[in-house]
Amino acid sequence: MKLDRLVASHDSAGRTAAHRWIATGRVSVDGVVIRDSRWEVDRFMRVELEGVCIQEEVRSLYVILHKPTGYLSATSDPQHPTVMDLIDDPDKGSLHLAGRLDRASSGLLLLTNDGRWSKRLMDPHHKVPKSYLVEMAEVIAPEAVAAFAAGFYFHTEDIHTLPAELEILGSHRARVTLHEGRYHQIKRMFHRVGNRVVSLHRERIGALALPDDLAVGTWRELSEEERELAL
Ligand code: URA
Repeated sequence: MKLDRLVASHDSAGRTAAHRWIATGRVSVDGVVIRDSRWEVDRFMRVELEGVCIQEEVRSLYVILHKPTGYLSATSDPQHPTVMDLIDDPDKGSLHLAGRLDRASSGLLLLTNDGRWSKRLMDPHHKVPKSYLVEMAEVIAPEAVAAFAAGFYFHTEDIHTLPAELEILGSHRARVTLHEGRYHQIKRMFHRVGNRVVSLHRERIGALALPDDLAVGTWRELSEEERELAL
């Protein structure tokens, strides 16, 4: 939101008064006087008018969680435990999911209260790569590599999947890298080549890997550097 709009809404002051107050240096954002009415502010910034707070800053929160199997990627559910049950931060109520994993899947999950960051992360044009380790019920056929690279037509969504990388690591074990996130995508792709996913674990989003020291079911805040790595 533009600074003049926020100031104008304070005590219904109106735009004219807001412009005057800003231009005459009576408004500060995060402790710095701003004289530009078009300055972009968000809810993570503290705004003061003549030293009186007119917008309290919200604490921004960026969470990396090692999701265990059996937990839903949802903020609440009447039936199943959700990933929120694993987070004990006082501000956890403000979080939303920046991507999902199926209930039976495990691994790297991101949550935040910063809609701009999660929007960039999930923007389909951005094509942030995501890597998964899979264990399969049947031997993985070498032809599946070309099939994943060529993509599959998904009738329900009427789309053709983007080229995906399949790296065979063992007879029943592989790494899959996707550049999009369709519903049950990996399970559906393997189904097309006559195989069945037994377990699925997300190990990476962009250049952000699930840290080795983040135990299953635990979480921590992301550093600024890590936040950039995920994009
Ligand atoms: N693809 C799936 O099928 N499941 C997931 O949880 C993630 C990707």
